Amino acid sequence: MATKVLVVEDEVNIAELLRLYLEREGYEVVTAGDGGKGVALFEQEKPDIVLLDIMLPVMDGWQVLKEIRSSSKTPVIMLTARGETEDKVNGLESGADDYIVKPFDGKEVIARIRAVLRRYGGTEQDSGKKLTFDNLVIDMEAFELIIKGEHVDIPPKEMELLYHLASSPNRVYTRNQLLDEVWGFDYFGDSRTVDVHIKRLREKLEGVSDKWSLKTVWGVGYKFELLAK
Ligand code: CA
Repeated sequence: MATKVLVVEDEVNIAELLRLYLEREGYEVVTAGDGGKGVALFEQEKPDIVLLDIMLPVMDGWQVLKEIRSSSKTPVIMLTARGETEDKVNGLESGADDYIVKPFDGKEVIARIRAVLRRYGGTEQDSGKKLTFDNLVIDMEAFELIIKGEHVDIPPKEMELLYHLASSPNRVYTRNQLLDEVWGFDYFGDSRTVDVHIKRLREKLEGVSDKWSLKTVWGVGYKFELLAK
């Protein structure tokens, strides 16, 4: 049975974006546009996890969380606006399991959901989004980059870009393809963004292995190249 996610969010665009991301990953999604409906749907649908906005009509996210916690330990991830640091603390103290700062990144949302569900144990299947190369592990499940056995901090977009390239070794991607496929429709930048991210990735990956490399294909774009011995 698919993992069921309840999204409580009054901004229709955000709710639909979340639905898109989640359904693409095989989750079943139910949405509520205000806090009251959120509580009602929670009781009716018995979701495996809840994504809960804070500023909501009828009943705000904190009240919804309180209602949920009065009867259930179902994991709840709060959706907060950027800079609401107090909200984060408040959220975690009042029984939320994690928080995601808006504007969020689809892959980060998925990674957070997986991490929280894993903590609760068992309802989540391993989708195997983990790539392993010589001295390099790109783990999209845990959103972790491991170089020579060491965890390396990496911004989400760099991680996604690396994962995208390394998922199809030796395939050449143009900058525009990468912008489309990694940054997606919510992005309004230009192809230099790709170059900047590649440059930062190279700084992290330089000299790590002689079996693969992040290569520029002049006049075309980039590829993750596996080198024959
Ligand atoms: Ca809202």
